[in-house]
Amino acid sequence: MSAGKITILHVEDNYENLVLIRRLLQFYGYDVLEADNVSKAVKILKQIKPDLILMDINLPEIDGDTLTSKLKSIPYFREIPVVAITANALKGDREKSMLAGFDGYIEKPIDVDLFPDQIQSFLNQRVS
Ligand code: MN
Repeated sequence: MSAGKITILHVEDNYENLVLIRRLLQFYGYDVLEADNVSKAVKILKQIKPDLILMDINLPEIDGDTLTSKLKSIPYFREIPVVAITANALKGDREKSMLAGFDGYIEKPIDVDLFPDQIQSFLNQRVS
């Protein structure tokens, strides 16, 4: 693992969620990259390999689960944990998330007390 700061890419089209998670992640010392759609996320991923990706499921144009299954089919990206941030705790959505290759999920609304431990545990899944 590199000695540099840990970088987290957050893909989310809801501005309030972007801001909340940005504040939390920055508070805990993480570097945050943001994309509000899949093409921006792909642009970032061509330049930077983040340590963790937080992914909204419902995005404009292409959904987060479609992007995630694509990323998981590419060896270079496969080792990055991808965590779904999902508003609907519906069982079907969770199953869909796991099928798409997500490494886990965090439910919206975000529990700010649990959030740092959730992030840490997903970072621990990284293949170093
Ligand atoms: Mn959304």
